[in-house]
Amino acid sequence: MSDRILLCLCHMSGKEMDFINEAFADNWVVPLGPNVNGFEKDLEKFFLSYPPGLERKRIVALASGTAAIHLGLVALGAGRDDEVIVQSFTFSASANPVTYVGATPVFVDSEPDTWNMDPALLDHAIADRIQKTGKKPKAIIPVYLYGMPAKISEILEVAEKWGIPVLEDSAEAFGSRYKGRMCGTFGEYGILSFNGNKMITTSGGGALICPDEEKWKLAMNYATQSREPYPWYQHERIGYNYRLSNISACIGQGQMTIAEEHIAHHRHVQERYRELFSGVEGISLHENPGPEFDSNFWLCAITLSPELRVKEADSCGKPEAMRRNLERHNIESRHLWKPMHLQPVFSKCPSYVNGVSEDLFSRGLCIPAGPWVGEKEIARVVEAIKESIV
Ligand SMILES: *Cc1c(COP(=O)(O)O)cnc(C)c1O
Repeated sequence: MSDRILLCLCHMSGKEMDFINEAFADNWVVPLGPNVNGFEKDLEKFFLSYPPGLERKRIVALASGTAAIHLGLVALGAGRDDEVIVQSFTFSASANPVTYVGATPVFVDSEPDTWNMDPALLDHAIADRIQKTGKKPKAIIPVYLYGMPAKISEILEVAEKWGIPVLEDSAEAFGSRYKGRMCGTFGEYGILSFNGNKMITTSGGGALICPDEEKWKLAMNYATQSREPYPWYQHERIGYNYRLSNISACIGQGQMTIAEEHIAHHRHVQERYRELFSGVEGISLHENPGPEFDSNFWLCAITLSPELRVKEADSCGKPEAMRRNLERHNIESRHLWKPMHLQPVFSKCPSYVNGVSEDLFSRGLCIPAGPWVGEKEIARVVEAIKESIV
């Protein structure tokens, strides 16, 4: 059997061990340390260099992307009896932290160009929530699915009109840009993830992009058990143990030396799929919808046209039949995210839907990308997909 092709496998630069060895030599095997600070500086340089003025923002490295969303919500003051608007078409980690602070997620569907939050539906949802509950949602969480920038200018316009802060879930969009500016730097807060299968990894980790020095200090305080500067342990808020470990940060420092290469390779894989699928009827690749969008193509995603016939699709539907067929070729693929408004765990939450995410979920699939997917693997994936078509 040929080697397995995975959706997105982590890939080391080789420098990670140098940073780790140094940290061990200096006994920095602790939750705080010079490598965490160094990794944060690397991130700030990467994310906050353009456009001018962004340097006022600061970045805190944390234990996970989920922790970053949680701390962002805490910093925004979301709590019991509040509602937070979340993109429905996403991974559950975008919505789960809303419940950690005791608030209720309100789901908003996507528009068909970017597959991300529909700005017009967002506007309608906010008006309706205010009418029904008598108060404004506490925050808006748009997501950049598979690295694709959302229509963030329009989302910010709606958010500003109602005076509601935006917390960008940029977990999948490390290095994606909208109008030249990095995703994650548009809202009041933005979050990143360095989980094992993301664009870069710390084996597990995340970060919160904060609007200024003062909010950065507040996030740092919450992330370190809210310890106040006294000679004894003094606490004035409920804190969390959410800081990234110094050893994980060593991996992050090593990864930052090849972050640009990783992103370039993901974009190259997308380009090759584009060429190889160009003559294949019924398969569409999810693409940047205009020149202002610049996805990192973290995962490449395809949709199957309603007319396309897939082998053995009668019992399980087209994407599942194709997934099983790819599996027989030892290729991992995955359904698009099942929308949160269809998840049993969130069935009681309010939602504003337009059919877009349900339609995409019923006919979409993520296919392998990333540093380990080269010319040979791309060809195998495309052949296996063609072979699944009747
Ligand atoms: C991965 C991911 C997260 C969570 O990140 P972790 O670091 O795994 O906690 C949040 N949102 C989205 C959309 C993700 O893909």
